[in-house]
Amino acid sequence: MELTELLENARRNEALLRRLQAFELQLLSCQTWLDFLTLLLDGLPSQFDLDAATLKVCDPDGDLKAAMLQSLDIEQGVLLNQLEFQGRIPRIEAQAVTPPPPWKSGLALPLVRNEVYLGQLRLYSSNPERFQQGMATDFMQHLAAVTAACLVMVKQSEEQARLALTDPLTGAENRRGFERAYDREWSRGQRQYHVFAMILLDIDHFKKVNDVHGHGTGDRVLKQLCKTMKGVMRPTDHIGRLGGEEFALILPGCQPDQLSKVVERVQQAIRGMRVENDLGKIVPLTASGSYISITPRPHQELKLAQVLDFLDTYLYQAKKQGRNRFLSVEQ
Ligand code: GH3
Ligand code: MG
Ligand code: MG
Repeated sequence: MELTELLENARRNEALLRRLQAFELQLLSCQTWLDFLTLLLDGLPSQFDLDAATLKVCDPDGDLKAAMLQSLDIEQGVLLNQLEFQGRIPRIEAQAVTPPPPWKSGLALPLVRNEVYLGQLRLYSSNPERFQQGMATDFMQHLAAVTAACLVMVKQSEEQARLALTDPLTGAENRRGFERAYDREWSRGQRQYHVFAMILLDIDHFKKVNDVHGHGTGDRVLKQLCKTMKGVMRPTDHIGRLGGEEFALILPGCQPDQLSKVVERVQQAIRGMRVENDLGKIVPLTASGSYISITPRPHQELKLAQVLDFLDTYLYQAKKQGRNRFLSVEQ
């Protein structure tokens, strides 16, 4: 009888080990936050009969959270509810922990990569006997080590993908990055009748800024402009640098009746910019722009180039009317 039980146990362990190995291989092939977080936080509980998996991650500067928010779109962002971002997380050994309600048992596993402590993976079950003090956790510790390695790899892979789509001077999206953001927003809008808005803007007489104050000051203006706009936008909004001093914004979920208020906020922020030239003198700055609300419809096609054509026409009007103004695209 004892022998049968032992054999049965060994068989069960071997089957679990094989499933865990297959899971780890899947984890290792993730290159994006979406794939990694979906597999870990949704796939792990469903494949291993758990009630929840959560991550606590050390993120002292908030960079990791910002990177994830940039990479995920609005509805994928709910995945982050299963994450806790903290400045410092006490280092632990693998151990059973008291779970938050309604769960009845929990296991905390340290995430360590190259001796750097990254946080914890926590598993919860409604079965009070699933995780108990003193139980063997070797398999799960292996999973945690692979998870930690994947966390670092996905971070690097997302960072490289981001750099390829980013303008190095301002940190805004480059044209390719912006096109990708537009395509994603458009398809999402089509699937879910989700509206979004776009703003095109161009600094007034920027050539003069360069001529009078020098190219270095011009560059500082461009950097400061992006920083300023980011300060008044949501983290899920997009800024693209489409040309020298021409930028476009995508505002997911911005309702048509809110748009003029948002435009006003952007204009106010630009008016409030204080960029100094090399002699410490404030450079006077204004911008002109145009804006549009977009309601994607199924079976409709509206390319970014077409939207930019509409916006360009109105931007040109704004320049002609004396600059320092934003005009709404009449539809
Ligand atoms: P308008 O009010 O009609 O927009 O006039 P403008 O002078 O802003 O427009 P124009 O298109 O004639 O000039 C754009 C200038 O932007 C010319 C170019 O030298 C400058 N520029 C483009 N890229 C950069 C950059 O990366 N850094 C700096 N400092 N200047 C840039
Ligand atoms: Mg200009
Ligand atoms: Mg221009």
